[in-house]
Amino acid sequence: MTHQPERRSFLRGQFRHKTVMRPPGAVPADAFPEACSACGDCLAACPESILLKDEDGFPKVDLSLGACTFCGDCASACETGALLPTTVWDWRAKPTAECLSLQGVTCRTCEDHCDAQSIRFRLATGGRSEPRMDPDTCTGCGACLTACPTNAITFFQHQPSEETPC
Ligand code: SF4
Ligand code: SF4
Ligand code: SF4
Repeated sequence: MTHQPERRSFLRGQFRHKTVMRPPGAVPADAFPEACSACGDCLAACPESILLKDEDGFPKVDLSLGACTFCGDCASACETGALLPTTVWDWRAKPTAECLSLQGVTCRTCEDHCDAQSIRFRLATGGRSEPRMDPDTCTGCGACLTACPTNAITFFQHQPSEETPC
């Protein structure tokens, strides 16, 4: 299905106010509704099956379904230029309050599954320890979320000059 120009203009306005995890290589958020035809070719191409359509029909990544390998198949399948070749993106992981380790339960599962070795634990009071993802080495791949027994990891867009949210 393709979008009519009026609908694209409407969606451009909408996207200024919401942040969606687009596939790696996506053009900037403001330009995405214009560039993407919502054809679904990237969804079909993803070998990890982690791409879904959002409520407007555009592709979004759902890392709860699996990790992104940055294989580039989604960008290769995109004929409109909405997805461009890349091996990185600006999403980073951070723990949520549901983390077992933050509640004093021993767990290092995310650390064990992080190929980039971006996760270190900082001791806290009461037998708790806090997982800390290094935004300079975290790739945002989502392998930690896939492995986490309580889905206690969320993602944010990182700008190198910004402080890491705590
Ligand atoms: S880079 Fe590969 S694994 Fe990641 S969303 Fe695209 S097709 Fe899927
Ligand atoms: S795997 Fe999940 S619950 Fe375990 S330490 Fe990591 S974030 Fe916390
Ligand atoms: S998103 Fe990937 S690189 Fe980042 S902490 Fe999780 S497993 Fe490691």
